[in-house]
Amino acid sequence: MSTKYGLENLKDAVVVVTGSGRGIGRGIAECFAAQGSKVVITDIDHATAAATAAEIAQMGVETLAMDCDVSKYEQAEALMNKAVEKWGKIDVLVNNAGITQDGLFLRMKPEQWQKVIDINLTGTYNCAHAVVNHMRKARKGAIINISSIAAGGNPGQANYSASKAGVLGFTYALGKELAPMGIRVNAVAPGFIKTPMTDKIPDKIREQMIAAIPLKRAGEPDDIAKVILFLASDLAGYVTAQCVHVNGGLAGL
Ligand code: NAP
Repeated sequence: MSTKYGLENLKDAVVVVTGSGRGIGRGIAECFAAQGSKVVITDIDHATAAATAAEIAQMGVETLAMDCDVSKYEQAEALMNKAVEKWGKIDVLVNNAGITQDGLFLRMKPEQWQKVIDINLTGTYNCAHAVVNHMRKARKGAIINISSIAAGGNPGQANYSASKAGVLGFTYALGKELAPMGIRVNAVAPGFIKTPMTDKIPDKIREQMIAAIPLKRAGEPDDIAKVILFLASDLAGYVTAQCVHVNGGLAGL
C-alpha cells in the first residue's frame, strides 16, 4: 500500500479548463497553477483568455491562451491538438464553460433552448470527445464536468436544468465506458457561487438565496476549485462516474 498521498501528480500536469477567462473557470485554473500545473486558459473571447493566461503565468507556471467556442466541435479539436503540440499530452480536462438564458417555459424560444444545450451539454461532449483521443494513448487522464444544483430542476431554467442534468448522465455513462482505459470522469455540481454569472441576479433575490444556504454564505470559485483538484489528483484514484455536490448544504439533487 502506498503511504504517500497528495496532489503531487498535478505538478507539471497539463490541464485544460474551458471558459477559464473569468468566474469559476479562472478560479480552477489558478488552483491548478498553484500546484505547478501547466494550464490552458480557453474562453470564447481571445482577449479575455490571453489576459487571464498572462496573469496566471506570473505565478511561475507555463500557460497557453486559446479562444474556443466549445459548441463547435472543430474548435474543441483544435484546442486539444494545440495543447498536445505544445506539451505532448493532456492530463486533465475541466469542462467548465457554460451559460444561462433563463425564462419562463411558455416564453422560451427554440433558439434560447438550443443555445444553452449547445454550449453546456454538446460543448461538454465536444471537448471530452476531442481529448479522449489523446488520453487513451496515455491510458490515463481525468475529466471533470461542471453540472449544477439546477440539474434537480429550477423554475425558469428548463433549458439550463436540462443541460446540467444531461451533463450528469453523460458523466455517469462516460465514467463507466472509459474506466478500462484508465480515464476517470466525474462531475461537480456547484450551488450558488459568486461569479459574473450570479452577479446578474437582482440583489433581493440573491439575499434570499444566500439566506437559504445552511452555511450562510455564497460559495467562492475557490470552493469549487479545491474539489476539482481532489478529483483530478491521485487522491481520487478510485473515484469515477460520480458527482460531488458543493453547495453549502443546500438541498438539491
Ligand atoms: P461565468 O462567470 O459566466 O463564466 C463562464 C465562462 O464561460 C466565461 O468565461 C465565458 O466567456 C465562457 N463561455 C461562455 N460561452 C462559451 C462558449 N461557447 N465557449 C467557451 N467558453 C464560453 O460563469 P460561472 O458562474 O463561472 O460558471 C462556470 C460554470 O459553473 C458554468 O458551467 C455554470 O453553469 C456552472 N455553475 C455556476 C454556478 C454559479 O452559481 N455561478 C452554479 C452552478 C453551476 P465570456 O466571459 O467571454 O462570455
